[in-house]
Amino acid sequence: MLLNVFSQPLPDPSELDTWHVTLRCGHRAEWRQHFTSSLFTASTMVCTECGDIRGVLSSELIAEAPARAEAARTREIRRIARREVERLRAIEQLEAAQRRVDELDQQADAGGWADWQA
Ligand SMILES: [Zn+2]
Repeated sequence: MLLNVFSQPLPDPSELDTWHVTLRCGHRAEWRQHFTSSLFTASTMVCTECGDIRGVLSSELIAEAPARAEAARTREIRRIARREVERLRAIEQLEAAQRRVDELDQQADAGGWADWQA
């Protein structure tokens, strides 16, 4: 188990948000956590000033991880790409429908319609 903890890769610093945390003792601490955790959820922290475990009064995200913006850009690019695929599919369906209308018009012009009317 302990070996497992040490075998985990260290997080990329560009993926870490920086939080300012106010503790019940009145001291403030800085905390970094991965940007995919969008909330600060710890209820206690070791105060580096007091050396004791203190409750967390409040937390504030003060610096977003650069990777957060990059991840948002990647999601936006994927969303735009999906829309483009949908748009191209709709154009293909429209063109297929127009070809079918043209075929039916040609059949009607070739006498099918006149035969039906007679
Ligand atoms: Zn303290």
